[in-house]
Amino acid sequence: AAARARGALERLIRDVPDFPEPGVLFKDITPVLADCEAFHDVVEAMAEAGRDADGVTVVDRVLGMEARGFLLGAPIALALGVGFVPIRKAGKLPAETYGVTYDLEYGTATLEMHTDALRPGDRVLLVDDVLATGGTIAATTELVHRAGAEVHAVSVLMELAFLEGRAAAGDAPLSTLLTV
Ligand code: AMP
Repeated sequence: AAARARGALERLIRDVPDFPEPGVLFKDITPVLADCEAFHDVVEAMAEAGRDADGVTVVDRVLGMEARGFLLGAPIALALGVGFVPIRKAGKLPAETYGVTYDLEYGTATLEMHTDALRPGDRVLLVDDVLATGGTIAATTELVHRAGAEVHAVSVLMELAFLEGRAAAGDAPLSTLLTV
């Protein structure tokens, strides 16, 4: 499934120059989502990070980061047979939240998680589409620690290696289907 998923990603991911601002080469995954077979292979391959060598699920929850992390994280959670937790931008979650603010190239951003989304000791899988600077993964890891839970692994569809975001995963193993 992983080899098929990689092939599909190489074929389907669309590079959009200068979006959302000049100088950024945006990796558009919508053609992958629109291809049922490719989408299925990608979900199955990314879910492997939440299983042990015998194929048994070893995580308690999958966390997806707004917004494209939702599109991948929710089906991965179902594939693993565990619940899904949305990590959202500030002010979007209705109940009590933990919040972590982190630096962007210009300004800051805040990510939030419901305080009752995880139990202490839960092992979670973080899912997002693109790993760039790693700021999103680092902030989400801090939210998980606030809840007394731990990051078992991080699974991203694609890593932009030149931005060196991999360190943000800390001790948790980071798996990616594609590195550019
Ligand atoms: P970062 O926190 O810098 O690792 O950025 C990761 C977040 O920004 C992810 O949620 C990605 O969806 C998005 N992102 C960053 N760079 C790109 C890019 N070149 N193409 C598509 N999405 C990106």
